[in-house]
Amino acid sequence: MGHLIIDQSATETNGKRGEKLEYDTVSCKHCQCVLRIIKRQKEGAWCFTCGGSVCIPCSQTGQCVPFMKKVEGQIKYDIRTRAMFREFGI
Ligand SMILES: [Zn+2]
Ligand SMILES: [Zn+2]
Repeated sequence: MGHLIIDQSATETNGKRGEKLEYDTVSCKHCQCVLRIIKRQKEGAWCFTCGGSVCIPCSQTGQCVPFMKKVEGQIKYDIRTRAMFREFGI
């Protein structure tokens, strides 16, 4: 959970002063992208499988693939390919 402040009150566009926006941020459980929460309104969705906030693109896949699992999968794949290479003497 983080906090993000976008302060545009010092800038003026078309005679209108910019706003100061404050957001709370959480990261997507599946891809680690940052989601902004504005006044309890959520940008994104909720994954009931891993019980965390996820972004819209991740929720639309309808699958639960936590980020850590992706990383683990990649590591396992690396170990497997390396073992294979060793077997072939490469
Ligand atoms: Zn995501
Ligand atoms: Zn999930």
